[in-house]
Amino acid sequence: MTDVRTALAEVVGAEHVLSGDAVPPDYGRDESLGVAGVRPDAVVLPAHTEQVAGVLRVASAHGVPVTARGAGTGLSGAAVPCAGGLVVSFERMNRVLEIDADGQVAVVQPGVTLGELDRATAGKDLVYPIFPGEDGATLGGTIATNAGGMHAVKEGVTRHHVLGLEAVLATGEVIRTGGRYVKTSTGYDLTQLIVGSEGTLALVTEATLRLRPRLAHRAGVLAPFARVEAVTAAVPRLTGGGLDPLVLEYVDVLAMAAITQNAGLDLGVPQEVRDTAGAYLLVVLENRSAERLEEDVRALGGQLADLGAADVYVLADGPLRKLVTAREKAFWAARSAGADAIVDAVVPRAVLAGFFTAVQRIGARRGALIGGCGHAGDGNVHLSVFQPDADALARVMDEILAAAVECGGAISGEHGIGREKSRHFRALEDPVKVELMRRIKTSFDPDGILNPGVLFG
Ligand SMILES: Cc1cc2nc3c(=O)[nH]c(=O)nc-3n(C[C@H](O)[C@H](O)[C@H](O)COP(=O)(O)OP(=O)(O)OC[C@H]3O[C@@H](n4cnc5c(N)ncnc54)[C@H](O)[C@@H]3O)c2cc1C
Repeated sequence: MTDVRTALAEVVGAEHVLSGDAVPPDYGRDESLGVAGVRPDAVVLPAHTEQVAGVLRVASAHGVPVTARGAGTGLSGAAVPCAGGLVVSFERMNRVLEIDADGQVAVVQPGVTLGELDRATAGKDLVYPIFPGEDGATLGGTIATNAGGMHAVKEGVTRHHVLGLEAVLATGEVIRTGGRYVKTSTGYDLTQLIVGSEGTLALVTEATLRLRPRLAHRAGVLAPFARVEAVTAAVPRLTGGGLDPLVLEYVDVLAMAAITQNAGLDLGVPQEVRDTAGAYLLVVLENRSAERLEEDVRALGGQLADLGAADVYVLADGPLRKLVTAREKAFWAARSAGADAIVDAVVPRAVLAGFFTAVQRIGARRGALIGGCGHAGDGNVHLSVFQPDADALARVMDEILAAAVECGGAISGEHGIGREKSRHFRALEDPVKVELMRRIKTSFDPDGILNPGVLFG
């Protein structure tokens, strides 16, 4: 490794190569509950694309595994490096290169955080509409995991907003894919192959992103329902009801109690309603005009009442923001309550009820407490699983993820496979597809140095 470190220092400068005790433990972990941290042999901090290419040429020549790192906020162990490996951290490549207001496009380096991009676009009345609940996450990391978040029900996920990339292959070759245009029919779509590839195909060094108009008016409604089944039945009616919700989240009573308590939040829901509620729907609408928004909120109230809501609470701006933030932080509430695993499965929204029933049966059979919240509008649920026994927990996870696939869904809606779910990915995905993905990986990365262990195990 001494040779490798010397060669890396020649590429990025000795002060931008950390090794041994100088590597802070954070570079060896992400926020996954199930994947233990691993301290890499070295961390390199390139400043521009040519340096990234130089680093990959060195790693390739020496057969050293490379893990790209954004902010390390991922939830699947995809940023956990290999023992003896190298971390390429993009924290110095953190510039918003351009906000093109007429083209409605942003060009960014991968280390820019979602929060920084949001501040840069706000002044131009534009927005990059990906809000996965962690505004310290980077564009590189969210592109590599195809992050979704609460606005996906209206705006789609990361891949719907990535128009083009600059990326470095394992060989050190640099490619540019896509561009500042919104459609293309020009061969295989390499942009979309790289989005969601969890650092296994190429390292992203620049991204061209589609921006949307930032609408001025927003309102939120909280609706308690007596039973979770009524919530799940309401979801397809609301997505098909013509009001185009920006947010359509369900929160079960356990999760609601945890997140409101964690945030010290009183939503004004009377005790007798809370006592009988089984789950809540949080719906947010937005519009360019206050009058139209008011009209839509009235229509939404009517729809919710028809669908069996026990009551409908229109939230003022302050409580709405606080509730959305508290919901975004549900992961921390679950973690501090001692959750042993988080499920991120996705199923067709119309079969959510059947999936919940299967999950409750699995929990009862295996002695696990399971509750949560999630992006109901996308059929994407985030369940917290409490089962401290490792073997029993593994069986619960196997059965829940198998149930999601049986319902016509997939094992991850937005967090990715990483190291945590690679076993399930191989067991539950079509083997022909997995083999094809392996061959794609080999075409991009013939020596298998990019994030080995992630996805394929
Ligand atoms: C509290 C909390 C709530 C969350 N809620 C949601 C949610 O609602 N929806 C959702 O989708 N996600 C959610 N997430 C996960 C979030 O999407 C991830 O945190 C984010 O996508 C990862 O960004 P990062 O910069 O931290 O990447 P990292 O964790 O550092 O890396 C993630 C992956 O990206 C790869 N990578 C990083 N940079 C590059 C690059 N330049 N080129 C190639 N590969 C790269 C890494 O190798 C790794 O495979 C949540 C996370 C937290 C902590």
